[in-house]
Amino acid sequence: MKEPQVGLQQIIERHIEAMAEFTATPGRGTTRLTFSEQDRQARNYLKRVMREYGLTVREDGFGNLFGKLEGSVEGAPAVLVGSHFDSVPHGGAYDGPAGVIAGLEVARLFRDRGLKPKYPLEVVAMIEEEGGRFVGGLLGSRAMLGVIRAEEFAAVKDKDGISTVEAMRAIGLDPSLPGSRDRADIRAFLELHIEQGPILEEEGIPIGIVEAIVGLTQVQVTVRGSAGHAGTTPIDRRADALVAASKIIIGLPELAARQGGGTVATVGRLNVRPNGANVIPGEVTFTVDLRAGREEDVQEILAQTEALASSVAGAGIEVEIERQLYIHPKRMNDEVRGLLESASERLGVSYRPLNSGAGHDAMIFSDFTKVGMLFVPSRGGLSHCPEEWSDAADIARAVEIFYETAKQLTEAE
Ligand SMILES: [Zn+2]
Repeated sequence: MKEPQVGLQQIIERHIEAMAEFTATPGRGTTRLTFSEQDRQARNYLKRVMREYGLTVREDGFGNLFGKLEGSVEGAPAVLVGSHFDSVPHGGAYDGPAGVIAGLEVARLFRDRGLKPKYPLEVVAMIEEEGGRFVGGLLGSRAMLGVIRAEEFAAVKDKDGISTVEAMRAIGLDPSLPGSRDRADIRAFLELHIEQGPILEEEGIPIGIVEAIVGLTQVQVTVRGSAGHAGTTPIDRRADALVAASKIIIGLPELAARQGGGTVATVGRLNVRPNGANVIPGEVTFTVDLRAGREEDVQEILAQTEALASSVAGAGIEVEIERQLYIHPKRMNDEVRGLLESASERLGVSYRPLNSGAGHDAMIFSDFTKVGMLFVPSRGGLSHCPEEWSDAADIARAVEIFYETAKQLTEAE
């Protein structure tokens, strides 16, 4: 007897609920660390669904999981759809799994609608995006794409000294399976992720089409003045390092707002020396974290920040600026973005362009292949907590948009 037709939205809800069961902290959010018992349970669930959807299941030597729908052209590169399935400790049910489940449902729609693609469609569920167990994060995509070598992967240890390969073997995975894949074997990568911010919900828009994963730079600013007695040094005779530093810090939001385009500036760490209640601060060191979606905007806000910092020097105040970190913004592929936009329009789904302020596996893929990324609203803008929630109806919309887009990407020359 034929099962009654269950809507896409309900199927997505069922998958989300099922995946949320695989947690080491029941009732206190999703804790699913890479190569843990919960990882094993979750991947078994995903494998079962993949097989049920007619996909060929495969794992690589890093524990990444693939479910492939073969294309009619032999040996042709695949369109990958998916995300990661690990979580932070006490995280939510959506960060990662929403994207993996979206991939599964795109594949199911291919099957149910009788679509036989030219190029293969591959659902991918990646390990260790969050860096919750092993250091660094984005480990699954970096290893898969050869950004780190198999030997480097094998040398990574968790805080208890257990290596990746030992942890893999402990849950029955085989680290000797083929490792990084030929980049020419990937035609495109599509990732759905929850927004993890407030914009879509506030504007009542169900879909964000990601333009770029922001670039970031961090500088350390040291402001030197003269320490002195808080009672005996007249107010007009001071070189107060904290007062000077404050002028810089207070000016940063204004610089970022003036530049626009989602540029943000944050001072998150500040050290005051000697840090005594009755001592004029002699030296202040603080970090400035600057992020923007376009390379020229990162450069511009950096130049403005350096100019602002230098402007408080003089009258006994010295300022030193040290650049510490620079990560280039990753633009999503224009062609794929165009396909996502036209699919949204055909489906009557409203969308807006967005930048991603957080890193994702998509940023690793963007160096090697065409990447498209969608966001769905996060309730209250929350993520990495048990309260994390997104509407399955929005995920279903994203699945339909990806289906349309993947249909084109698996057909076009
Ligand atoms: Zn994520």
